[in-house]
Amino acid sequence: MTAECPVDVAFTRRLPKIELHAHLTGSISRDCLHDIWKTKKVQDPELDLADPLVAIPHGKVDYDITTFFPLFSSYIYKLCSDLPSIEYSTQAVLRDFQSDGVVYVELRTTPRAIPGMGVTKDHYVKTVLDVLRAHTDNSENTMRAFLILSIDRRNSTAEAEEVVDLAVKYQSAGVVGLDLCGDPAKGDVGIFAHSFARAKAAGLKITLHFAESETSASDLELQTLLSWKPDRLGHVIHVKEEFRRMIEQQNIGVELCLSCNVHAKMITGTYSDHHFGMWRHSKVPVALSTDDVGVFCSPLSQEYYLAAQHFGLRRSEIRALCERAVESIFTGPYEHMRLIKLYAGWDGWEV
Ligand SMILES: [Zn+2]
Repeated sequence: MTAECPVDVAFTRRLPKIELHAHLTGSISRDCLHDIWKTKKVQDPELDLADPLVAIPHGKVDYDITTFFPLFSSYIYKLCSDLPSIEYSTQAVLRDFQSDGVVYVELRTTPRAIPGMGVTKDHYVKTVLDVLRAHTDNSENTMRAFLILSIDRRNSTAEAEEVVDLAVKYQSAGVVGLDLCGDPAKGDVGIFAHSFARAKAAGLKITLHFAESETSASDLELQTLLSWKPDRLGHVIHVKEEFRRMIEQQNIGVELCLSCNVHAKMITGTYSDHHFGMWRHSKVPVALSTDDVGVFCSPLSQEYYLAAQHFGLRRSEIRALCERAVESIFTGPYEHMRLIKLYAGWDGWEV
């Protein structure tokens, strides 16, 4: 029986893990940001940006909804402001996930133009995809990486359509889905209906940040989002029974981010109060995910460990959770089969 073996950090590190909700820029470690800052400071001693290790000190994880989004717009985006730093940071993010035992990742990012550097959104997406492809094509790597493009809630309909155009254009190069993200206090999601319908018609999968805060959990918004027939939902925090039932009936996968929700005070209480405790008993695929490991500093192995600690999960239950998450990946039968075989043949369940 596997059940008697304890779930410790050594086990959750070795466990082959699937990461389905990770924002590329939010996954960049502070050390990597520091490296980029150092390189830029040498090139331009006048650079007017604080050292990341001062601006975002090690150990600081108490970012909430009011401080989280400005951290990106006023700092991290300014630092990762050219193709070499985007390439460098994407490579580092992939290395970090792989060394934590992640075997499959769907990273997400909002296409970003950097006009001052002559970088278009197309350049940005292509650069990220090239790094992901190089990682996946390297047979020494155990992790395979795919991309989801995000529409930001603050986008105009024209900007959203541009994201869909890019997603469709690069579908054969590793874009597997479309996401809706961004500050939940902003925007009217209704304006994106056409963009998501077009993505779905093109064969892309859909994931949506769903009921992340009370302001983004009105009946109207949740009804609108569910009417787009999403394949997965992120966070799923402020959800009434009626919507929970719909999610279960439609078997929509949920991406749950424990540390992010606790540190950012998106839920009331602590880990043991997290709605993972409810969803794990449902039949829908549940993917524990990090959201922004660069900000909240809890790698996926730690998220599995925390879930096990606070909800008393045994190894067999973690195995069932992982195998269920495979059902909600956005790639096709090849990856599905690879992951199912990997879990079936993994030698770490009992040792
Ligand atoms: Zn997110």
